Amino acid sequence: MTITDLKPSRVWQIFHEITQVPRPSGNLDKIRNWLVSFAQKHGLEYKIDQVGNVAIFRPAAPGFENAKKVVLQGHMDMVAEKASNSNHDFNNDPIQTIIDGEWVRANNTTLGADDGLGLAIALAAITDPDIKCGALEALATVDEETGLTGASNIKPDMLQGDYLLNLDSEDDGVITIGCAGGLVSIATFDYKPTPAQAGLIFFELSLLSLHGGHSGTDINCGYASATKLIARLLWTIKQDIPFQLACIDSGNLHNAISRDAKAVIGINPADKEKLAVIFNRFVAEIQNEYRHTEKNMDCRCVSVDAPETVIDCDTASRLIDAVFVAPHGVYSMSLEMEGLVETSTNLASVKMRPGNKLVIEGFHRSAVESRKMELANQMETIFRLAGASVTNEGGYQGWEPDTNSRILNIAIDCWNNLYGVKPKVEAIHAGLECGLFLKVCPHMDMISYGPTLKDVHSPQERCHIPAVQKGWDFTVAILNAVAQEK
Ligand SMILES: [Zn+2]
Repeated sequence: MTITDLKPSRVWQIFHEITQVPRPSGNLDKIRNWLVSFAQKHGLEYKIDQVGNVAIFRPAAPGFENAKKVVLQGHMDMVAEKASNSNHDFNNDPIQTIIDGEWVRANNTTLGADDGLGLAIALAAITDPDIKCGALEALATVDEETGLTGASNIKPDMLQGDYLLNLDSEDDGVITIGCAGGLVSIATFDYKPTPAQAGLIFFELSLLSLHGGHSGTDINCGYASATKLIARLLWTIKQDIPFQLACIDSGNLHNAISRDAKAVIGINPADKEKLAVIFNRFVAEIQNEYRHTEKNMDCRCVSVDAPETVIDCDTASRLIDAVFVAPHGVYSMSLEMEGLVETSTNLASVKMRPGNKLVIEGFHRSAVESRKMELANQMETIFRLAGASVTNEGGYQGWEPDTNSRILNIAIDCWNNLYGVKPKVEAIHAGLECGLFLKVCPHMDMISYGPTLKDVHSPQERCHIPAVQKGWDFTVAILNAVAQEK
């Protein structure tokens, strides 16, 4: 038995064909050509835009010319991950699929059900003669997995619909109705390298092995930020002991909660005991505060050789104060959906860069654009007051949850009628392509869902076979309900 024997056969047949076409993110010519030949084979019009997104259009069925139009959307790229013993070539080899009980997986590689199955459902819908409804579009975007490139560059003519069904969610029975937008703020101090004062003794303070995590979905989990802690430690020392700051290094990626931080300070030998007392008291305090979430935190204060130069005292002091007071963590919870983080910020990193620069990055997220900007403006103001220059980059829009959305309520009724239970309705505090579609089509009404996938982005990626039938029946029901909508 192969996956083409599974039901619903139209979906599995198309998914099988997709698995035979290599499509790692960044190398999508083959899958784009396959999509074009799919449209031609079915006599459907299609459009390719300047970044390579493909839209395939099916006209309304006779009698449904006035019905609402629906876009079914997925991304054409897949994450290319394989087991260390696999010699799979993602640029040339087809994915080998294996049926394993109730699951389909690949042979030591990612399966690409994220989002090949979403795409297969979209293509099955636009070619199923039994679905009688208004005009449909299947939209396949490029490089979702490597920065939402396709969705970021979408133009309104690629989104010809009143409703959009994003088929890139991974939990059977869950409908997603919101996501967070993002924006990176970068603050830069210019410092003067200054000769280290003679006679000082130097110590490296390090806060290591914190839990870390995703700066959106883990921001409300109570993990400590190494960047915030090192600034707080330096600020605390500064109240009692004068010191020279030789270097500081904290965090890494802007979308990760910082796990490690280090700073080297030089003090008068007479203050050595005082430093030990302050450091030990600080460590005891934070170990107590984070005893539930940071069990592996490793804090050290170690004597090191004196460096030749240090950061000038004035800049060091302003840097420490600014990072100490800069916002970090959950800023507001959603009033539309209980338990959802609406707005947060991650004070991600402090780095010394060539050209005598100290660079601080923060990443703000919110479903509400104006709240995201409020945080960006706060960060800008704090660092400007401290004498840094501040720029913003990489901004993208969120998707504000609307529990009164028409397509949501149609979908809830369909799920309830099919399976006798209400689906879960959720929003996530991370990015999705939907927010970017809203930027060009602000009135589009959308939901995101999809059959159950496990361990996506890993060679254990697998898809639950019964959930594909449910997801397909759900899609057909939604399209029929939209066609009958008054
Ligand atoms: Zn995906």
